[in-house]
Formats: sequence, structure tokens, C-alpha cells
Amino acid sequence: MSANIKELINEMTLEEKAGLCSGLDFWNTKGIERLGIPSIMMTDGPHGLRKQEGDADHLGIKKSIPSTCFPSAAGLACSWDKVMLYKVGAAIGEECQAENVSIILGPGANIKRSPLCGRNFEYFSEDPYLSSKLAANYIKGVQCKGIGTSLKHFAVNNQEYKRMSIDAVVDERTLREIYLASFEEAVKEGQPWTVMAAYNKVNGEYCSENKKLLTEILKDEWGFNGLVVSDWGAVNERDLGLAAGLELEMPTSGDIGENKIIEAVRQGKLSEKVLDQAVERILKILFKSAEYKQENAYYSKEDHHALAREVARESMVLLKNEDHILPIKEVESVAVIGAFAQSPRYQGGGSSHINPTKVDNIYEDLTKMAGKTTSFTYSEGYDLESDEVNDSLIEEAVQAAKQASVAVIFAGLPERYESEGFDRKHLLIPDNHRFLIEAVAEVQSNVIVVLSNGAPIEMPWLDKVKGVLEGYLGGQALGGAIADILFGSVSPSGKLAETFPKKIVHNPSYLHFPGDGESVEYREGIFVGYRHYDTRDVEPLFPFGYGLSYTSFKYSGLQVDKKQIKDDDTIMVTVKIKNTGSMAGKEVVQLYIRDVESTMPRPEKELKGFEKVSLQPGEETTVTFELAKRAFAYYNVKLKDWHVETGTFELLVGKSSRDILLKETVEVESTVIIKKVLTRNSTFGDLLEHPIGAEIMKAMGQGQFEGESSLGAGMQEMILGTTLHNASIMSNGQFTEETLQGILQAVNKSN
Ligand code: BGC
Repeated sequence: MSANIKELINEMTLEEKAGLCSGLDFWNTKGIERLGIPSIMMTDGPHGLRKQEGDADHLGIKKSIPSTCFPSAAGLACSWDKVMLYKVGAAIGEECQAENVSIILGPGANIKRSPLCGRNFEYFSEDPYLSSKLAANYIKGVQCKGIGTSLKHFAVNNQEYKRMSIDAVVDERTLREIYLASFEEAVKEGQPWTVMAAYNKVNGEYCSENKKLLTEILKDEWGFNGLVVSDWGAVNERDLGLAAGLELEMPTSGDIGENKIIEAVRQGKLSEKVLDQAVERILKILFKSAEYKQENAYYSKEDHHALAREVARESMVLLKNEDHILPIKEVESVAVIGAFAQSPRYQGGGSSHINPTKVDNIYEDLTKMAGKTTSFTYSEGYDLESDEVNDSLIEEAVQAAKQASVAVIFAGLPERYESEGFDRKHLLIPDNHRFLIEAVAEVQSNVIVVLSNGAPIEMPWLDKVKGVLEGYLGGQALGGAIADILFGSVSPSGKLAETFPKKIVHNPSYLHFPGDGESVEYREGIFVGYRHYDTRDVEPLFPFGYGLSYTSFKYSGLQVDKKQIKDDDTIMVTVKIKNTGSMAGKEVVQLYIRDVESTMPRPEKELKGFEKVSLQPGEETTVTFELAKRAFAYYNVKLKDWHVETGTFELLVGKSSRDILLKETVEVESTVIIKKVLTRNSTFGDLLEHPIGAEIMKAMGQGQFEGESSLGAGMQEMILGTTLHNASIMSNGQFTEETLQGILQAVNKSN
């Protein structure tokens, strides 16, 4: 504790200390004038600044000041571009400085367990490695401007249904490998100033009073040295929350929260030392904010709009491009269809909803970008405010499409379909969007669909159209970005950060989402997203990591610097990528790892490295990945640590989880010997796995289990599955209880 902060705390009354642990109002923390303690503002985010000057709310209802709306996280993640995430963060940091906001409430690193979660547009991925890396870079970008972040919603907040009360029941291994891993690297590498405790419970305990999550894992294990803030109104019992590691309650609860703390200290239920530690963490952040505050900060709205356009085109994913329909070449006429072309859906609903500095009109951007000889028509196609099929709007679009060389349809999910606060019930787009696509495809063979949606949809019409561009929620500059891609001034380079299933029933969480109203059991365990689809060989509509380009890339020369390592070594993996097409483009090189043989259930493959490279035609580059223990490990609940089993691992390099182009193997030797304690209920198989046990079995004449054996395989397995106890009562005195106890003593003594 720095001397000043220590002195300050000594000077504070109990009331002042307790008061500092909850907000002043909806968005500001308390200051203490007599002690020179500043008050700071924290506000949403995370894809742009949502600063409210008038009435406040956390549902995105009341107006906020204008700021740049960047693509939402679901789209940003498809850029797979760490540098881009950093740049977006830095731009948002600049806007915070200019608007006197000290902390932006984001990014959201929750895992996309089900595509139905209403808030998936605000989260990065179904994969914890990708999610965590991108979050870390966003955080570093914001914080390089002297603005804090709030990594949210910690943890296991993967649905909106009953989000404030649901109990997420997750086993320890799944928690560590999937749901916490998505935050872990973001905390360790990004060092966010704050982490936001989620509303829900995890394994029976509210996140906001979950000591295991907030103190033992986040602070003690991961070394988080910022403060934990509650999600808005997520505090259950304030004193219990404080004791568990929740420093700051937001927004203010009047004096309810602070009175509970004061009372608990007075009654001796809460040690004042714990309160002092919380105050210390809070003060550090308050003074840090004050120290980094830039006077007269300013940002250029135009520059940020241009950045929003750049990042939007990096994020969009080309899903289908039959007959190279894209980019649109010199064509006579384009029929632009769909109300989204004039009134785009570019951001999600709820607390992340911002007031953009301006919004592109997609139709206008298309007309500006195309050659002068191309003519355009616009037809509305559907009513924005309703799902009802409007025959005359469809007929008008069909007539326009008939006359044109190509039809571009803008469709997807209206805001009423997905938002914070509720989940979707299915993956369909509204009937009026779907019927429009089908009707136009009947009369026009050159149909391109551009989608605006925050999460996967089903595409029963996919075979009827030639091109599909997944635009996600592209932010305020989506029009320019779409025009850039459709007319080929850039090659698309986004790759899906989540699997698009053919149907929702294929999703691993399907039978256990969203739970029974009280709890939701994560029964699919670690098999989330592609870990499920690839392991169970369920063919998705579009796999994780997938995305097309206008150019082509050749992968070659996969090498590892060491082929035999110990689990605490690191290895360097290199691979060459060449742009073999005729256009400049970017490629996302993905590295997955497969444990070839394991005694534990493990996914078919897991992402452990990715890099986005930019290449001119004919240009080649080498991509390097560094792999350490965690890349090979699973979480061992008995060891309470990450563990690598000795054996062969495959390094798989490719363009998506389902398009692996190169493979190498490494042998990894574990440095940890897991010594099992054997009991009378252990089996002969367990005994054989133990070095001393194996000797004993040999001496007992059970050499039958080494090399060739006269016993059949089935019989061998049956004997190995027999417990020592069972043998002692069934062997007719040949294998006595004394022998059994002797064996156990010899084996366990050697551990
Ligand atoms: C949301 C948070 C948000 C907060 C403040 C909550 O309802 O879950 O993500 O930052 O409100 O608006």
C-alpha cells in the first residue's frame, strides 16, 4: 500500500470507508472532498461510449451523447485481429478522455454457450482462447489512453433468461477450461482496472458474493490487482459481497449497502481490515484515473468513423461465393432490396446501445462505390417493424430483381429479435425476410444476401442464392465496409468466431438451455461449440474459423523446433503462408492441438494459436507460434491444476476447425507423476498401472498381462476390471484379506 493511501485510510471514518464502497449515483463513484478523494464516472460500452447526461438507465432506453459506434464484439471477433481490437480500444479510450469518463464497462468475455443467448452479439466467441486474447487486446488499447476497463460479466453469465437469479451449475473442469479460461488471459495479459461481477449464481452462490471466484481465483491465482465492481444492482448481501472480494457496489443503493457494511463491522461480523483492503483497491483506481486524466482531450469523429469502416470490413465474413459472384464486376444494374439497406441494423439492444455520431446509408454507399455505368434500384421488400409478409412489397422487389443483372438482398434479425434481457427461441429470421429471399431467388439467378444479425441464424434458403456475406452488427460505418467488400476494393478476411449449426437441436447445450428457471445445468461440459461439433462429427452449416476470400493462400513448411519436450518446455512452431491469388488479402492462420490418446475425455481439437497476416499477390511470410504447457493441458480436478498427460500431440494448422491443411506431431512428457492411492475397491487394472503394483502382479504370476497372453482380450479386461475386494471374497481363500492389505500397504507406502 503506498504511504499516501495508507495515511488516507487511517484518516477515514468507518462511515466514509463504507460509503466509498458504493456508488454516488447511477454512473459515478463517491468522492470525499475533505480528503481530496476524487469521484469518477464509469459507463457503458463496450462498442462505443454510452454516456448519459440526463436521465440514466442500464437498458439502453434513454439518450446518450453521440459517440462512434464500432462493430459489436460478435463481429469484431471475426476479424481475429489483435491489433484491430487494440486500435478500437484505443479509439474508445480517446472518446472517454474527451467526454470525462474514466472507466468503460466492457469488454464482455462470456462464452457463447448457445447461439440463442440474447446477448451473444456483445460477446466474442465460443472458444475461450480466442475470446480471451481479443478481450486482452481491447483492454490494452483502452487502457493505453489512461482509461480503465471493466471486464464483464464474471462469470458464467451465458444467457439472459433469469439472468439475475439463475444458478449456473458447472463442473470444475468445464469451469476452468471454458468459462473461466475466457477471462483468465484477459486478466493476466490485459490487466483490466476493474472486473464486473455478474448477476447470476455459480454453483449455488451469487457471483457478487462468490469468494472462490472473486478472491481465490481472480485475485490470488490470476494476480488481479484492480477492483471488482458489481453488475448494476447485482449485490445480494452487501457485507457478504465485501467479504468475498466485491469492492464496489454500483450503482448507488441509497444507503442500504453502506449501512450493511457499517453494521457488520460494528457487530464484529466483518473485519475492518477487510474493509480497509477494499478501500485501498478502490482508492488506487480513483487516483490512477485522476492521474491519467487528460485536460482538453479531443478526438476526430471523422477519423474514428474511418476506423469503424476499416474494422467493419475486417470483421465481415464471406460465407458463400458460388461462381465467384463476388466481387460484383462491371454490371449494368443492381437491384438493392430490403429495408436494412436504408435503415441498417448496426448495433445490439440494451445497455450497449449508443447514439452514433452518424450512420452510413448502405444504399448510398453502394451507389457511390460502383462504376458510373451501373444503375441501381431500391425496393423495401419488408416492413421493418413487423414480421408479416407484405405481398406487394415482395412483388415490387421481384419485379426490380427481374430487370437487374444482380440482386443484393439485405436481411437478418431486427432488433426485436435479439437484445440484452431476453434470449431467442429459435434461429429463424422473420418470415417476411425469408419469403423475400425465396421469391427473389425464383426470378433472379444472381442473388447475394447480406446479413445483419448478432448471432447465428438458420439458412433454409442457402442453396437458392449464390453469395452470402455475414455482416454481423457492423457499427455505424457498415455501409462503406459492405460497399468495399461487394465491389472488391478489399478482399473479405473475417472468419467465424462461432459455429453456425444447421439447426438449433444440434447445439450441445440444446437439452439444457436455458434451464428450469432456478438453475441451468451445463451438462455438455467442455464440449462447447466446435469442441462438440468436431468431436461428435456433427456437420455444421458453417464451421468455427470459416470464411472465404477473393484471393487464395497456400500453406506449407510446418515445422516445430523440438519434437520431444517436457511439459514445462516451450516450443516454436512455424508455417509459411503465400498469397497465390491475384489480389491483396488477409488470412487468419489457425493452430489447433489434438491429444492423440488420453485417459481423459478431450475435444477432437482445441485452438491454441492464431495470427492474421496481410499479403500482396505472390508474397509469402512465415508465421510463428509459441506453445507452452497450457497449450497441451487439461484441468485436472484432483490435482487442482493444469496437467499434461505423457504422449503424442498433433499440431494442426488450417483455415478453419474443419479445414486442416498441415499436421506435425510432438511427444510431450509429463513432469508430474499422479500417484493414486489404492484401496480395497481399486481394480487389478489400477494395480497394474502403479509401478510397484505392476511388480506385485508379475510376482503373483499374472504375467498374462504383459505381451502375448493366452487369455483372450475380453477375459483380460474382465480380470483387470475386478476389484481387489471382490477377488478376496470370491477366490475361495486363494487371495486372502491379509494378502490384499499387504499389497495396499506396499503400494501406498511407495507413494
Ligand atoms: C448490464 C451491464 C451494464 C450495466 C450498466 C447491466 O444491466 O448487464 O453489462 O454494463 O447494466 O448499464
